[in-house]
Amino acid sequence: MERPTIKSPTELEYMREAGLVVAAIHQALIDATKPGVTTAQLDQVVANVVADAGAKPNFLHYQGFPATVCISVNDEVVHGIPGKRAIQLGDIVSYDCGAYVVRAGKKWHGDAAVTVVVGDTHIPDAQFVQGIRPEGEVGGVSPVTLSRRRTLSSVTRGSMWAGIAAAAKAKRTNDVAAAIEDFVEAEGAAIQADQGWSPEIIEGYTGHGIGTHLHEDPTVYNYRTRGRSGKLVAGMAICIEPMVIAGDSTSAVLDDEWTVVTVEGTDAAHWEHTVAIGKHGISVLTASDAGAAGLAPFGITPIRSFI
Ligand code: MG
Ligand code: MG
Repeated sequence: MERPTIKSPTELEYMREAGLVVAAIHQALIDATKPGVTTAQLDQVVANVVADAGAKPNFLHYQGFPATVCISVNDEVVHGIPGKRAIQLGDIVSYDCGAYVVRAGKKWHGDAAVTVVVGDTHIPDAQFVQGIRPEGEVGGVSPVTLSRRRTLSSVTRGSMWAGIAAAAKAKRTNDVAAAIEDFVEAEGAAIQADQGWSPEIIEGYTGHGIGTHLHEDPTVYNYRTRGRSGKLVAGMAICIEPMVIAGDSTSAVLDDEWTVVTVEGTDAAHWEHTVAIGKHGISVLTASDAGAAGLAPFGITPIRSFI
């Protein structure tokens, strides 16, 4: 990975421009998620939003990745390649994508991921923090499967916000990692008692620094690590992106050399935001409200602008 870049307030605002393009992509994907739509059609949705915004996709051709967005369905964890697959009612689908803008002669990146259960109405952050969750029947999907997928996405999303909130005070990446791990573990105990399965953080996949490159140091783990914790200082931006599996946390890569799947065939979820650390607070660059709704339960008011 590239060394971490320390951004000026103006540069963090360039990154917010990229981040808001990513927020617009996610909204377009949520709106376009319907049974029968192919993942290739969804990839085109992303390409169109990026082009309309005057930005550039940063996943396309990244280390040879052949599409604009990673679309991972059910037991696919991350890095799924769009193609002919048609989305089905009740599928759990994660979208991971990014965009960059060129300002002052450099590329400034944004990167975020969202998970949806097809057929559910998307719950915005403001309602999510009030405890509102999707419910009801979806197609012919069994209530048990549906409940597991909704809970999995909810826990993953919650752990992301716990990690983001921790970044407001964190001195090192391990503080963020610990918050994510503790959230999943606490929720997991309740889910095990209630539903008989446990959410597990996938090993070997992490968040990262971001700036003039899509992936920079430091590595941001989703679980505590010994001796591998990077410093967090003002001017840094990091992607916080827990990936959580319903059950056994081992994964494998398919023959396409990209798609990561769970070995046991259990479902997976992935949520991610790009978070900027300023002198006087944090800001969620890929959230249209800078993270205000998601951070409200933690008593944190994000910075709306660094300049
Ligand atoms: Mg991402
Ligand atoms: Mg990322």
